[in-house]
Amino acid sequence: MAAATTPVGRFAPTPSGRMHLGNVFAFLVAWLSVKSRNGAIVLRMEDLDTQRTSAEFAEILRQDLLWLGLDWDAETAPQSQRSDVYDRYFSQLEEMGLLYPCYCTRSQLHSVNAPHLSDGTYVYPGTCRNLSKAEKAAFDRLPAWRVKVPAKEYHLTDLCQGPFSQDLSTDCGDFVVRRADGVYVYQLAVTVDDAEAGVTEVVRGVDLLGSAPRQMYLQELLGFPHPAYGHVPLLVAPDGRRLSKRDKDLDLGFLRLHKKAEEIIGALAYSSGLMDRSEAISAKELAAEFSWKKLEKDNIQLQITL
Ligand code: GLU
Repeated sequence: MAAATTPVGRFAPTPSGRMHLGNVFAFLVAWLSVKSRNGAIVLRMEDLDTQRTSAEFAEILRQDLLWLGLDWDAETAPQSQRSDVYDRYFSQLEEMGLLYPCYCTRSQLHSVNAPHLSDGTYVYPGTCRNLSKAEKAAFDRLPAWRVKVPAKEYHLTDLCQGPFSQDLSTDCGDFVVRRADGVYVYQLAVTVDDAEAGVTEVVRGVDLLGSAPRQMYLQELLGFPHPAYGHVPLLVAPDGRRLSKRDKDLDLGFLRLHKKAEEIIGALAYSSGLMDRSEAISAKELAAEFSWKKLEKDNIQLQITL
């Protein structure tokens, strides 16, 4: 009985470079949330983009997480090794009659006169939804595959951002689950991986809040339970810049040379409202006083001296 109620969180880094403090912050909150309730963390490398990711970066990431005191209980196979698994779920969606091939080119998609989502994708107008056999045969290229979405509102109560909802038909449109080159996309892979690993709580940056309804829809289709979601605010540098992997001065490679892990955790906790005093603290000590209620919702100005 106890096992069923153990919270399971996850770290799902993309091993494409050194973590910056925004990544560290999201992992810290994911870790604190489950560890404060004696839960477990599953680590998974999101390396679908094999051009940008590498095993070397994955190893540096593991070392950096451990150095920070953010450990995990199990590591599951990286996404690049799980195409067979995604194939099975893809077939399941196909058998349900929910997939169709899409031949739209990138430039066609970008010229679509439609609002675009925060992650840069466009509301797909359904161009290829009803192509005839003959129309499909006339294309001389391989298609991407899209899943049809219903006109239905998906609601969630985010642990950090509060109530959020999206109607997939008007806010997103039919979305791609497999690219023309055969690579599965993030939305499908992440849904399958989280469910197979028994993840009950997905904590990540607020830039991915708009993806949650698509993942909830896939969970519903594939018979997976919905996890809880917590989308933490983005960090901005002391000078107002949004943190990115390009800013070497705030990545772990630089910070590890100049700061102790406890100083970094303390700065993140103080800047985000998790702690009311500015002092060094370990992740483990911080877990004792963790509460989602303390956490800021809006962009966080990082308070750290470099
Ligand atoms: N791999 C994604 C990233 O590094 C995170 C995906 C997720 O947490 O769902 O930004």
